[in-house]
Amino acid sequence: MGCRKRAAKHQLLRVTAVEGVCVPDPRGALPGRGAHLHPEPACLDLAVRRRAFPRAFRLQGALDTERLRGFIEVRVSDSSP
Ligand SMILES: [Zn+2]
Repeated sequence: MGCRKRAAKHQLLRVTAVEGVCVPDPRGALPGRGAHLHPEPACLDLAVRRRAFPRAFRLQGALDTERLRGFIEVRVSDSSP
């Protein structure tokens, strides 16, 4: 999902939805439907714009992605030189 670029599954971040909130699940430990995206803000933006999360989780309405965004932004800044 997101930018739809191909990537190996280990390069992607698993995301699941808990009570209307998109939650990062880097260890794949949470139950329920998962979606995979690149752990990059641009990929998250695309996924949000395409309403890919409600579709992936088969939920109606908007999902809160702020927690997921925070997680991705920390990850990005951690990996920069
Ligand atoms: Zn992507």
